[in-house]
Amino acid sequence: MKNSITSTVYDLIGVGFGPSNIALSIALAEQAKLQGSLSSLFLDKQSNYRWHGNTITDQSHLQISFLKDLVSLRNPTSPYSFVNYLQKQGRLVDFINLGTFYPSRLEFNDYLRWVAEHFSEQCRYGEEVLAIEPVIFQDKVKTLRVIARDIQGNKSVRETRALVVSPGGNARIPELFKGLKSDERVFHHSQYLSKIKTQPCAQGKAMKIAIIGGGQSAAEAFIDLNDNYPSVQADMILRNIALKPADSSPFVNEVFAPTFTDTMYKQQPIERERLLKEYLHTNYSVVDEDMIKQIYSMLYKQKVSGDQRHNFRCSTEIEQVTATEQGIELALRNTETGQQQLASYDAVILATGYERKKHIELLAPLADYISDFSVDRNYRLQTDERCQAAIYLQGCNESSHGLSDTLLSVLAIRSGEISAALYAHLVQEKHAIKSLSIERLIETIA
Ligand SMILES: Cc1cc2nc3c(=O)[nH]c(=O)nc-3n(C[C@H](O)[C@H](O)[C@H](O)COP(=O)(O)OP(=O)(O)OC[C@H]3O[C@@H](n4cnc5c(N)ncnc54)[C@H](O)[C@@H]3O)c2cc1C
Repeated sequence: MKNSITSTVYDLIGVGFGPSNIALSIALAEQAKLQGSLSSLFLDKQSNYRWHGNTITDQSHLQISFLKDLVSLRNPTSPYSFVNYLQKQGRLVDFINLGTFYPSRLEFNDYLRWVAEHFSEQCRYGEEVLAIEPVIFQDKVKTLRVIARDIQGNKSVRETRALVVSPGGNARIPELFKGLKSDERVFHHSQYLSKIKTQPCAQGKAMKIAIIGGGQSAAEAFIDLNDNYPSVQADMILRNIALKPADSSPFVNEVFAPTFTDTMYKQQPIERERLLKEYLHTNYSVVDEDMIKQIYSMLYKQKVSGDQRHNFRCSTEIEQVTATEQGIELALRNTETGQQQLASYDAVILATGYERKKHIELLAPLADYISDFSVDRNYRLQTDERCQAAIYLQGCNESSHGLSDTLLSVLAIRSGEISAALYAHLVQEKHAIKSLSIERLIETIA
């Protein structure tokens, strides 16, 4: 193992190279043509980038129009649009013939990788950022130290004037299951494809599997187990009274419009909370309506054939979890009838969503400069005046910027806003920007 310290001071380092930071790279490349290029570097812990790769099953499709790709809403003429990707792959006409706005996640994953490859010089894969530390000079934090570790365990230290933290979500593990982290029979949906391959059902052995949750991921796993693992008997266990459809009707969908970010941001915290609650059914604990119909029809066919393979346990709360050699035993209570029941499973899939707290861990060494992790309208973290290095956060600002913040919906616009704010910050801090004199840069901004 080696440790390396880079003497370059970057203008920007990005944590993660998922859709948020890939979109930002496009926006920065556009801005660079007008104002000069920045020295930027993005670090992603995946050695081979995949977009939620362990969840891409045959049935998973984008839950949003492909027109909300990484760039089209800001710059429809960009070469990095999904339409141009299709053209370059020779599939544009075929895709049109499909008559859909919703490509498979497999295809969208390929699109993201295709765009990312264009920016490969600015990205290092297989490097996990461990912490961000302040570099203190005369009581001020003008730059940040980014500490990362690669897959061989080598540590690197880099310095940057600005940082953008876009690490996505962490699997949410319900309290009752936290003690079973090392039990191979219990896993989160974010690991679905790699873990299911290691279960006895992959060899055709009979298994009883519980899927916990009533959202899109749970539904996708349920269908995949039905289609690809005929030896599995699956139970979906959910708190809701039924599987509920995602509301994607046009008026409601306006909540994902870029202009709604302003509407949300201008509100007082209590009103923001009310708006989030009112539109929650567009994204959380809901399932694409076509998929609900597919599941209903699957269960109906079972009834007709008399082979009732799978079950739904709605209105069900899990009260206790016990792991034994024989299986994972769940103590269940029906919240409508109060009836209690024990059920034993060979494996449990936790389709229990994601938490967005990674930025707090990563920025812990800067805690003295940060109060509550709120950001301004352009996603810059609010710090006290001693911290002059700019830190932008993406994907963890739902409470101030709305439901779009964790999704693809506003990526194209948000990346343009962050890019403009970043250039303005660097000018204000009078940092030279590569290939353009500061005077010319101030001129272009004015
Ligand atoms: C299964 C699934 C399906 C989804 N489908 C849709 C959809 O259809 N439509 C939609 O709008 N949204 C969807 N989403 C929401 C999703 O959050 C966004 O689509 C999008 O992935 C957000 O991009 P991101 O770059 O912010 O985060 P991510 O895509 O999560 O990318 C974060 C990246 O950061 C890297 N990373 C994390 N921590 C570190 C670290 N410490 N150091 C270095 N790298 C790090 C990760 O490896 C990852 O590549 C889905 C989410 C999931 C989980």
